[in-house]
Amino acid sequence: SETVERHEFGAEVGRLLDLVVHALYSDREIFLRELVANAADATDRRRFEALTNEALALPSDAKVLIAPDKAARTLTISDAGIGMAKEDLAQNLGTIARSGTRAFSQALGEKAGEGEDLRPSLIGQFGVGFYSAFMVADRVTVTSRRAGTDEAWTWASDGKGSYTLEPAAREQAGTDIVLHMKDDADEYLESYRLDHVVRKWADNIAVPIAIRDEEGKEEAANRGTALWRKPKSEVTDEQYKEFYRTVSHGFDEPWATLHWRAEGALEFTGLLFVPSMKPFMAVEDDRRSKVRLHVRRMFITDEAELLPNWLRFVHGVVDTDDLPLNVSREMLQSTPTLQKIRRAVTTRVINELSNRSKNAEKAEDYQKFFENFGPILKEGIYEDYERRAEIAPLLRFRSSTEAGWTSLPDYVSRMKPEQEAIYYLVADDVEALKNSAQLEGFRARGVEVLLLSDHVDAFWPEQLGKFEDKPLRSVTQGAADLSKFKPEGETGEAPAADKLVAALKLALGADVSDVRTTDRLVDSAVVLAASGSGPDLQMQRLLRRAGR
Ligand code: ADP
Ligand code: MG
Repeated sequence: SETVERHEFGAEVGRLLDLVVHALYSDREIFLRELVANAADATDRRRFEALTNEALALPSDAKVLIAPDKAARTLTISDAGIGMAKEDLAQNLGTIARSGTRAFSQALGEKAGEGEDLRPSLIGQFGVGFYSAFMVADRVTVTSRRAGTDEAWTWASDGKGSYTLEPAAREQAGTDIVLHMKDDADEYLESYRLDHVVRKWADNIAVPIAIRDEEGKEEAANRGTALWRKPKSEVTDEQYKEFYRTVSHGFDEPWATLHWRAEGALEFTGLLFVPSMKPFMAVEDDRRSKVRLHVRRMFITDEAELLPNWLRFVHGVVDTDDLPLNVSREMLQSTPTLQKIRRAVTTRVINELSNRSKNAEKAEDYQKFFENFGPILKEGIYEDYERRAEIAPLLRFRSSTEAGWTSLPDYVSRMKPEQEAIYYLVADDVEALKNSAQLEGFRARGVEVLLLSDHVDAFWPEQLGKFEDKPLRSVTQGAADLSKFKPEGETGEAPAADKLVAALKLALGADVSDVRTTDRLVDSAVVLAASGSGPDLQMQRLLRRAGR
């Protein structure tokens, strides 16, 4: 009819659609995520505009409705949101004016100019949003009525090069997106399949989402709590605990609950938890943080590595408005926004641990945490150069002179005036450490030695090197020099042992690099020592075990 207007897409849009369909094919269920997100955004926008214009108020039952129709082979996504006027439809859905699309076509132009192959990965960097509908549909019609107006329009396209606009009727403000499904997209006409996708990708959207089943019944599909978006004062301990258990798949109480909103240059909300129990199963095969990234409430991925590996025991959600919804894998690795969020989130966790580690009244509480996750934290010392100095005071140790646990700052405060180094001894278990002949000389002189028995302990002290300018020194290394400390009690010259040393050197030959007299022994006659510059003894054992 004459009321139908036909418009051409820009050439780039046609190409874009083609790429979208091919590049994202394996992930094509995300079309639903995109369309549901748009519907929820539109609902949020209307709610927001209604704050200053009562006429736009949302109907009380406003929701996003997903309605499959197997007979007609259509899937309809409806909302009562802000809606689109005719020019909005043309602008938002029909042109390349959208910033993302424009950037994409620019990149296409540049790459083509360089004679380079068009990487499908380019797609994700700019987001495909609404166009992803064409992955599952060979025709899409959008009927919309802008809130506050009484005109409705229908936009329709097969995604191949042009779209049409014609007047339509819609009783209330809002939008219906009707997808005419492709032959191979049958699964998205099944309500259980739709339910699965919504739960996976949109469970925490605040706007209610319902799916109409085969009998015409509407079932709520999302829980929509987005707990982290609520102010702290509105969240009960019970709700925090429930949410913690959902994200951690655990059964315990959180040891720490961090809930904060970062505002200013970088805006995001964090809701993170430290468990009070060690996870039941060791997850050594995947050392990456699984903290979930949300953008505007929408779950994006749990592979954004929002925290470093050495904080992988922390569970939770980070939600930001500062990233596009269809942030791609490539983008997750390179976007400066995410780098900044990572840094801020890591700092927040370290600060929490630091505060709790300094609370003398709750020392036991912190020790419990440390017994659960201390070995993981220690990995940060050799993996994370930047954070090393912040991690060191969070560590706890057994000591040759103190009962219970101690820390590096406490050790330093007890150092003897003439003592220059922090001494430590590494072995497989603390009992072996306590009885070690390596300690005799230190004991006799009242010099404290930290006793380390975690499997990572062989690695990190050397990496740390120093704490508060005091070098860390293994007592098994020959250089550990005790001559400047007076033995407590005894005096007098030790008998000369030159002849014995010479005889031992002869007997042991090339099996040892040297035989020396030492101040380190009191009761034992001999001890095995590492040379001053080489690796610590425990390290040598591990290297040998690893076949090196
Ligand atoms: P993005 O959501 O990143 O802006 P999309 O391609 O998903 O990109 O959508 C393009 C635009 O179309 C949106 O910004 C919005 O203005 C409009 N739009 C899409 N879906 C709806 C809807 N259900 N209601 C109102 N506007 C919509
Ligand atoms: Mg969108």
